[in-house]
Amino acid sequence: MIVVAGGQGIRAGGRVPKQYQLVAGKPILHHALVHAADCPEIDHIQVVIGDDHKSLFDEMIREAPPTVGEKLAPVVNGGASRQQSTLAGLQALPDTIETVLVHDAARPFLPGAVIRALLEAVEAGVGAVPTLRIPDSVKRLEIDRVIEAPNRDGLVRAQTPQAFRRNDLLAAFAAASTDGYTDEASLARSNGIRIVSVPGSEALFKITQPDDFAKAEAHMQTHLPDVRTGMGFDVHAFEPGDHAIICGVPVPHTHKLKGHSDADVGLHALTDAIFGALGDGDIGDHFPPSDPQWKGAASDAFLRFAVERVKERGGVIGHADITLICERPKIGPFRQAMKDNVASLLGVAHDRVSIKATTTEKLGFTGRQEGIAAQAVATIRLP
Ligand code: MG
Repeated sequence: MIVVAGGQGIRAGGRVPKQYQLVAGKPILHHALVHAADCPEIDHIQVVIGDDHKSLFDEMIREAPPTVGEKLAPVVNGGASRQQSTLAGLQALPDTIETVLVHDAARPFLPGAVIRALLEAVEAGVGAVPTLRIPDSVKRLEIDRVIEAPNRDGLVRAQTPQAFRRNDLLAAFAAASTDGYTDEASLARSNGIRIVSVPGSEALFKITQPDDFAKAEAHMQTHLPDVRTGMGFDVHAFEPGDHAIICGVPVPHTHKLKGHSDADVGLHALTDAIFGALGDGDIGDHFPPSDPQWKGAASDAFLRFAVERVKERGGVIGHADITLICERPKIGPFRQAMKDNVASLLGVAHDRVSIKATTTEKLGFTGRQEGIAAQAVATIRLP
């Protein structure tokens, strides 16, 4: 598969090109590559990047799961147009590849059923594209004035990936007289390749406008049917000090929390809640207190690891709710900072994180200000 990722994607807004902007904490291109790598029918992934995107790409690929690395060829630079970029990818493919799928980097999701339908339909002299019907009436505008209402009969929306025999596509590129084709099917067709349609998918939508990021995020949540909830609980005692680290935020206090790591009671409870939702042991199994490398460690690392375990299983974090139980220090003034930090560590929107605080009415060890307890509930979604 060739993934064309050379564009600047200005319509979607943002400071970096669209394909490197985040959906659920990961670049769009990351999602596209993870989904491609998960398809057993795809064994070689050739990404074509923009000339000045190498460092963005390298930074992204460092966080990609090993499944991507196993299929990913060294990237090549694209050209000034979509057509030149696809050609650069095509020329980089090994000769042994017979069938090629050309895909947009701005489409983060890739249903396996579409891939299988494309591969079934493609043959020598025949290319295949996924298409969707247009349920709405179609108008042609001149600025904001409707100048024509074309009949939509027979009109469809063409998506990617588009599938061809590699030699057919190479021949079409060699014969192309202009640089203005917007997709490979148009170019191939101009060279006598018959193009057939296979059923596309709404999940293949392309991120184009700023609103599409929220749509992609919502898609990730709703298309993972296995909803799991886990709970976590943790306690750390106070010892003399001048601040406690709670949910990653240093909170000034007459004491600090005692523990092998930074004793971040909030993040420990949340980390255990995620392990609980995964059915994947607990924080002590993954980070034994007997291991000196975790001495004084920032608990961010534990939470990031748990989040990574969810992602490795193709899942997402749906929601996290933490309750901090203590008489002192007062949590209120730091609550927003904690929420910001936890949302960022989880890679989710702020409204998917809750931080609450309560006292125990001066009862028990928290009431006597001997330490802090924390409870957390995490909801995750898995495929
Ligand atoms: Mg702990």
